[in-house]
Amino acid sequence: MGIPFFYDPRFASYDFGPSHPFQGSRFERFMKELQKRFPASYARLDIRHAESAGNDLLELVHERSYIDRVISLEKRRGYLSIDTQLLPGSIDAARLIVGSSVAAAREAARTGLAAGFGGLHHAGPAYGEGFCIFNDVAVAAAALLGDGKKRVLIFDTDAHQGNGTMDIFIEEPRVLFISIHQDPRTLYPGRGFADEIGSGPGAGFTVNIPMPAMSGGRMYDLALDQVVFPLIDEFKPEIIIRNGGSDPLYTDTLTNLGLTLDELTRLIRRVAEKAKSSNIPLVDLFLSGYGAYVTEGWLAIVRGILGETFELSIAEDMKFVVPEERARIERVTRATLDYLKANLEPYWKIF
Ligand SMILES: [Zn+2]
Repeated sequence: MGIPFFYDPRFASYDFGPSHPFQGSRFERFMKELQKRFPASYARLDIRHAESAGNDLLELVHERSYIDRVISLEKRRGYLSIDTQLLPGSIDAARLIVGSSVAAAREAARTGLAAGFGGLHHAGPAYGEGFCIFNDVAVAAAALLGDGKKRVLIFDTDAHQGNGTMDIFIEEPRVLFISIHQDPRTLYPGRGFADEIGSGPGAGFTVNIPMPAMSGGRMYDLALDQVVFPLIDEFKPEIIIRNGGSDPLYTDTLTNLGLTLDELTRLIRRVAEKAKSSNIPLVDLFLSGYGAYVTEGWLAIVRGILGETFELSIAEDMKFVVPEERARIERVTRATLDYLKANLEPYWKIF
């Protein structure tokens, strides 16, 4: 039995125009590359299609007035935000991605592991931006709550903070939202500081881990060991939804986190191994990434999900970080993690 992997060729219509960094061609290109270069890994995937999400699903997290606004904007090629234009077919493709992530999450809940293309985490209750129309990650989590789950962990490793997902679950204690991302002072969406920890009954259930530019994989290991994994042990989620594509990679043209391909694989693999050893179902979703090496980054992610060891490389040098700067990055990361743990201390025994 293969690992359920949700893909639909119609995702190609999730596209923002020829000069935009997000091109709908990325999905099919990746599937072809995986099949051509690593046929044994491709053969381990059980490719599935899902139903498109109707308003009933979207309304689990989005206001009806927002859905209506999106529909009317698409008719005149309007903009949700300066970087997110609605073109003909955008909505159908977005609904398909949402339906796919919901199906992947439910399949993971049933069988233990599933994956697919998802991660439209900048869409909030009544807004869309940052190339995100509807929030498939949040809809998937909300659908699982509707199925009776009481503890859902969303672990967002996209380089950009998941502001939409955060806003949707800001007061929801059944969803623990952890986002590890580039310092919001240096990157869109400019949210996700360490003192944003949720509110009302959801206080303590939003966890933001802002990482300094050029932090690299070793600092990610620190964050997993000191914050993310202890939280998993205490929260005991019934399912983990990991989302985030290749944009923490050092070659990404929009971000500056400095992870190598091997470090990106290691991040994904550590989450998969943690889920497995803790007996927690995992759904792994990715679709972000910018520049020439999105496919390589996604291959690194799939390598991590599947526990494969095939070789990957990129013909582009890493930016050199002098030892003094490396030491400063580590000091800032450790101070951030200490500050975060102090903020979370009233809500979690482990801190
Ligand atoms: Zn991103």
